[in-house]
Amino acid sequence: MRSKLGKQALVILGLAFLVMIGALVWFSGQGESRHSSGNTAIKPTKQVSEKKSTSEKKSQDSALPRVSPSDWELVLVNRENITPELYPELETVDNITVDRRIAENVRNFLKAAQEVDPAFHLISGYRSVAYQKELFQSYVDQEKASDPSLSDQEAEKLVKTYSQPGGASEHQTGLAIDLSTVDALNQADKSSMEKIHKMAPDYGFVLRFQEGKTAFTGVGYEDWHFRFVGKDSARYMTDHGLTLEEYIKQLKEK
Ligand SMILES: [Zn+2]
Repeated sequence: MRSKLGKQALVILGLAFLVMIGALVWFSGQGESRHSSGNTAIKPTKQVSEKKSTSEKKSQDSALPRVSPSDWELVLVNRENITPELYPELETVDNITVDRRIAENVRNFLKAAQEVDPAFHLISGYRSVAYQKELFQSYVDQEKASDPSLSDQEAEKLVKTYSQPGGASEHQTGLAIDLSTVDALNQADKSSMEKIHKMAPDYGFVLRFQEGKTAFTGVGYEDWHFRFVGKDSARYMTDHGLTLEEYIKQLKEK
């Protein structure tokens, strides 16, 4: 009888032990599921932070490039910024000379343009202030020859619509090129020109004298005149439709 009771007590103890083990297993399982549900709760937070970093990147893309208006490739030369001879170190590309530092970009841009149309060629690159003065005077003389009633001042005013006086042309920087399929301004096939206007920033260039921007540049539309400003600035200026004058103003206000 005593041993029977002892057996029963053992069985009860054994059962109680199993129940405890079961309870422990169940509890730890609950814990794990809480943990994994914790993981699922973390995921959306992670996605939010990923989204945030994408939008941060986007705002960085549209932010002004980290450049200075005093960087060599951003030198501003126009009729309001008359500049003396700059004597850049020159390198010949095709049949013209440019600032040695942009020769590779010019070569690559020309090559890409010739893939659009093999007729693309370089018309002009570096021109000294002295040569620009001669060039400007020769245009003034031509205007006066074709219309002898013009005064010097009237002839100069006329010439300024398509050429710059010495010291006012950015060709003296060695950072400007004229690139077209033909040797005449605004006479090239429009669709070919549009294609190279779009690809110019990939090589660090901008179309310098755009339509409707004469108020800022003082120069009318020129389909062939490209100016090297560096890839970051070229992309930003093109995306935001800015002339070099407007872009430099923004950099100075930064
Ligand atoms: Zn030009």
